Amino acid sequence: MSGVSENGKQGMRETGNRAVFLDRDGVINELLVGDWVKRWEEFRFLPGVKDAIAALKKAGFLVIVVTNQSCVSRGLICEEELAEIHRRMLEELGEGAVDRLYCCLHRDEDKCNCRKPEPGMLLRAAKDFGIDLGRSFMVGDSARDMAAAAAAGVKRIMVEGKNPGAVPGDGGIRVVKDLGEAAELILAGAAESGRTGTCAG
Ligand SMILES: [Mg+2]
Ligand SMILES: [Zn+2]
Repeated sequence: MSGVSENGKQGMRETGNRAVFLDRDGVINELLVGDWVKRWEEFRFLPGVKDAIAALKKAGFLVIVVTNQSCVSRGLICEEELAEIHRRMLEELGEGAVDRLYCCLHRDEDKCNCRKPEPGMLLRAAKDFGIDLGRSFMVGDSARDMAAAAAAGVKRIMVEGKNPGAVPGDGGIRVVKDLGEAAELILAGAAESGRTGTCAG
């Protein structure tokens, strides 16, 4: 796809930015199995997350959080409370650590295009930031994350966590123990699946 015009205003980004998309629960913070983080007090960073994000940023990746939070449409927490949790999370991670957080508040039955496994949040970010999806990564801990990543055409890394339902066994997914290991893999270029057939420059 070359330079057809609608995005022409952002000419500097024509080559495309590389991004690492991060799921939230189970990647950034501890997953509460069968529950949602409803207050900041319930939010616990997983070990190594800050350093991993800092390393990705240093290497020039955009870091974008894409999170399903149906707790809002389920009425368990209001939008303002969720925004406050995210404000504190971003503050703890440090200024500029995360370029943007996209959040779907819907449930499956709302049939939106943003709730993973739909790729809407990734596609939206790609537009907003001029992201080259084929040279970008998604780190998640669920089959939904991996499906959204596949639909968006980004490389898939799965954190082996508490999520039931395991890894889709299609061979295109790298499995790691945490975000730190995912970042190492990305930075080593080892997560390149080779599916584009081009040399990693
Ligand atoms: Mg998750
Ligand atoms: Zn949605």
